[in-house]
Amino acid sequence: MKKHNYSAGPCILPQEVFEKSAQAILNFNDSGLSLLEISHRSKDFVAVMDEARAIVLELLGLEGKGYSALFLAGGASLEFIMAPYNLMKEGGKAAYLDTGTWAAAAIKEAKLFGETVVIASSKEENYNHIPKGYTVPADADYFHCTSNNTIFGTQMKEFPSVDIPLVCDMSSDIFSRELDFSKFDLIYAGAQKNMGPAGTTLIVVKEEILGKNGRIIPSMLDYAKHIKAESMYNTPPVFPVYASLLTLQWLKNLGGIAAIEKINNAKAALLYGEIDRNPLFKGAAAVEDRSTMNATFLLNDEAHAATFDAMWKAAGISGLPGHRSVGGYRASMYNALPLESVQVLVDVMQALEAKV
Ligand SMILES: *Cc1c(COP(=O)(O)O)cnc(C)c1O
Repeated sequence: MKKHNYSAGPCILPQEVFEKSAQAILNFNDSGLSLLEISHRSKDFVAVMDEARAIVLELLGLEGKGYSALFLAGGASLEFIMAPYNLMKEGGKAAYLDTGTWAAAAIKEAKLFGETVVIASSKEENYNHIPKGYTVPADADYFHCTSNNTIFGTQMKEFPSVDIPLVCDMSSDIFSRELDFSKFDLIYAGAQKNMGPAGTTLIVVKEEILGKNGRIIPSMLDYAKHIKAESMYNTPPVFPVYASLLTLQWLKNLGGIAAIEKINNAKAALLYGEIDRNPLFKGAAAVEDRSTMNATFLLNDEAHAATFDAMWKAAGISGLPGHRSVGGYRASMYNALPLESVQVLVDVMQALEAKV
């Protein structure tokens, strides 16, 4: 039986993506060859890469606005290094918002390149909220933030208007909600949270911000080189790119980001409604900053944990335990998780209330 998969990443993808990508491994486009055994320079695969890059810009509303989409390897973690390498000047500085484990990891890498100013942090409160009321220094080379904090279950609802390049790690909520994506100059996202299998990272970059920091950049870390090579500077991760394309086609057929945002809001309202109503549970993150993607919550009385755990497992739920830095539970409700799966979890929470 297919499980109700709340894994934080790698995560659930649409069932049709699993089926179509399995088919492509056996016989790609009726060619008599597997997707895995053809040249990445073949006509069939170049078409996949071109379409994947185009559909990203289409879904984000960035077509014809000077942006390029790339599918690279190395994960979002490599972008922690690539972003400063491409944007920070020698002797320059960058401004960062510290909202969680991943933001802190990005800060750590940026410090290798130059002055890295943390303009606000919620670390002292175990990252249970998004800092507000901060000022972004106008003389920084760029401002970096993390739109959704996968581990702590907080999400930025607003982004500052800045005159310097705005860089955002959107690994865990890209394609989940409508934003004015043209406010951002560099967006990156590891595929495995909301777009595809692990193994590729999506980069969306406004071309005009590149080539300005005076550094000599190693080829593999140079966004401009990857753009010029149309995301084929070296052999790309062909399978993750193909499966990501299938997921994005699924999203487009569903009505795009506007349509999935409605569904995501409905899922989040259902679960947070129960967390707030049910006297056995409490939410871990500040209410106004709650993530629609990753809901973190705790039992008020840990004595019920063994009973609850047995109940949700028996209901076919998988991937619910929280990250060790928060404890409790984390329900990751990425795009492909159906509303029905959230109802199953809510039913279990109510059944626990009736039982204890
Ligand atoms: C998972 C995650 C990362 C790390 O992604 P990798 O692809 O494993 O390097 C970075 N940022 C955020 C917000 C994440 O959720």
